[in-house]
Amino acid sequence: MTDTLDSPAVAPSLVVDGAQLIGGEWVPSHTGRTIDVINPANLELLARVPQSDAEDVDQAVRAAEAAFPAWRDLNATARAGLLFRWADLIERHSSQLDGLESQEVGRPSWGPPPMAGQLRFIAGQADKVQGVSLPTYSPDTVGYTLREPYGVVGAIIPWNAPGPMFVTEVGAAIAAGNTIVIKPAEDAPLTPLALAKLSIEAGIPAGVINVVTGYGSEAGAAIPDHPRIRRIGFTGSPQTGRLIMEACSRHLTPLHLELGGKSPQVIFPDADLDTAIPAIAMGITLNTGQICAAGSRVVVLRSVHDEVVERLATQMQKVTVGPWHQPVNMGPLINEKQHSRVTDYIEVGTEQGATLVTGGSRPKGPDFEKGFFVEPTLFDGVSPDMRIAQEEIFGPVLSVITVDDEAEAIAVANGVDYGLVASVWTQSVGTAVRMSRALQAGQVAVNSSLGAGVIGGPFGGYKNSGFGRTMGADSVLDWTQVKTVSMREAPLPRF
Ligand code: NAD
Repeated sequence: MTDTLDSPAVAPSLVVDGAQLIGGEWVPSHTGRTIDVINPANLELLARVPQSDAEDVDQAVRAAEAAFPAWRDLNATARAGLLFRWADLIERHSSQLDGLESQEVGRPSWGPPPMAGQLRFIAGQADKVQGVSLPTYSPDTVGYTLREPYGVVGAIIPWNAPGPMFVTEVGAAIAAGNTIVIKPAEDAPLTPLALAKLSIEAGIPAGVINVVTGYGSEAGAAIPDHPRIRRIGFTGSPQTGRLIMEACSRHLTPLHLELGGKSPQVIFPDADLDTAIPAIAMGITLNTGQICAAGSRVVVLRSVHDEVVERLATQMQKVTVGPWHQPVNMGPLINEKQHSRVTDYIEVGTEQGATLVTGGSRPKGPDFEKGFFVEPTLFDGVSPDMRIAQEEIFGPVLSVITVDDEAEAIAVANGVDYGLVASVWTQSVGTAVRMSRALQAGQVAVNSSLGAGVIGGPFGGYKNSGFGRTMGADSVLDWTQVKTVSMREAPLPRF
């Protein structure tokens, strides 16, 4: 596939150039400034988006406030119906959305994106948000709880999977009756804007979804700083998560944080390596390792260490690397900063005494002169305290740590600040049960990588990987607040 933004396969009508969505209107920033969005595989300009600041965010909040009463009061089944229509349109445009996301993230196609399914799962919850009936002190009183939206809410999302992040945050927030101001990442705002365009086509009213584009330090920071944004969802790095939480503390704004990971892949001697090795190599090279759930640490029992390392090295050398439009397994990293970060970590790994088994450099050849490419990289002989074993690299770099028994495997797997997902590779039910209880992670997958991969599995972190969950049965409920009501005709007698 060699589509460009001009080719029909990418549906130019979906590409928004130079505008953002505020109150149903496609508008520039009041600043008049724009940001270039480039394809990281060849550095070609894809489109420009407004470089907004706090004033644009404030305008978006006003638009969301104006839209809120009617959206809140629309019956929940009608709200769900609009979300289902949006999901249908997303499905109808799935190959174009995949093409667009592939270009702005610079990755080869993932095939049909999961967004329509995610949105339908969320939409199905919209009219099932229920309060409870409460016991009362006298039979002439009724008591119950109402679940109500917060009002105008805010979200900030990263660039690594901009489409799925957009539909899960926006979908759940508006299904609950909130209206939203969301800022996509400056590196990948085009898929979110395209999805917003489809939401308007689906009939979701103007002002319910407002997308403000710009840099984190300007448009992003203005969201938790805004006193009338009543709840926040943030997905991104722990460093930014801390800033968001500090800002939220000033207005006492509740929030959830979906942050980074350093996910372990624990391999026992009875693991089926024919399954484990390709899955682990895929799990660290998909999206060039730029996935929060990427399994970046192999924790292997000593008796299978040699075979695991040899087979992993072969498997990682088989991963084909290239520009987004070629039939390759892995594209470039998103930008220069990310490229320096990953190559710096590779240097640190070597300096701290790990053994570089394969990869570690920029691939050679004319296709790789432009673009932020790096080879799939495998380190062996990593000790648990090395920086490459502790810190999130967010690139295709896998570290192998050897342990002597199950207790040490648990200690090493849990011995990081993160706790997003974990994998266990074993044929033993007993080992699987013990490990799935012992591992400190929001999701544990036995014999698969990249998280539990089940429909409706809540997703979110333990420890510094964040708090709050998306995509579970309560994902819409989480965007509501509880009101307790009691009702009687005459006042309660005084005690
Ligand atoms: P980042 O924190 O740099 O940026 C995320 C978003 O925050 C972007 O939209 C950015 O513009 C904005 N931002 C940056 N500074 C800001 C500030 N001061 N105030 C407000 N907003 C600001 O993260 P990234 O590099 O875009 O994304 C990679 C990180 O995201 C990794 O750590 C990854 O693990 C994490 N992530 C987590 C999940 C999850 O579900 N747990 C999913 C995807 C990515």
